[in-house]
Amino acid sequence: MDRLDKESLWQRCQSFHGHVCGGLLTGFLASLYASELLDLWISQDEEIVCISENDTCAVDAVQVVLGCTVGKGNLLFHMTGKLAFSFYNRETGKSVRLIRTGMLPDPRTIDVIDYCMNNPYSDVFTVKDTVIPLPERARIFDAYICDNCGEKTGANWIHLQNGKKLCPDCYVKYDRFRI
Ligand SMILES: [Zn+2]
Ligand SMILES: [Zn+2]
Repeated sequence: MDRLDKESLWQRCQSFHGHVCGGLLTGFLASLYASELLDLWISQDEEIVCISENDTCAVDAVQVVLGCTVGKGNLLFHMTGKLAFSFYNRETGKSVRLIRTGMLPDPRTIDVIDYCMNNPYSDVFTVKDTVIPLPERARIFDAYICDNCGEKTGANWIHLQNGKKLCPDCYVKYDRFRI
């Protein structure tokens, strides 16, 4: 990826996220490093999967750079609070887990593109093997009408209770009255 590509990606990260911060830079660099290690490029559908272990500003950069989004089902969370991300390339089966172990300069005080052209990503991230198996592709579930509120929800959200199909909200309500 050349300088211009990186510049335009960093621009898009900033406008998507709304401000410049260390978290955004962390996600930007992690995404660039992952695309280098796994020969990834922008996800057309969901060839690239990211499992993030945090919900910090960094995740916004991952969405912009790698096209991993919650809606497409290729951005998932395994919350440990660590600045760690697992990236998977479905095409090749390759995967990598990056954890930020190094310090970063304040991106508001430097030229971010100069920084990422002149500093190896390995100064910032430790590369490990992934431990979470590659999740299956996003599934389309059947929908059911909740027997209590009449609202429709996906089959994977339905609870069965006393022969009734209940949505998560109604299931909780019933649960409160249980002796
Ligand atoms: Zn931020
Ligand atoms: Zn309901």
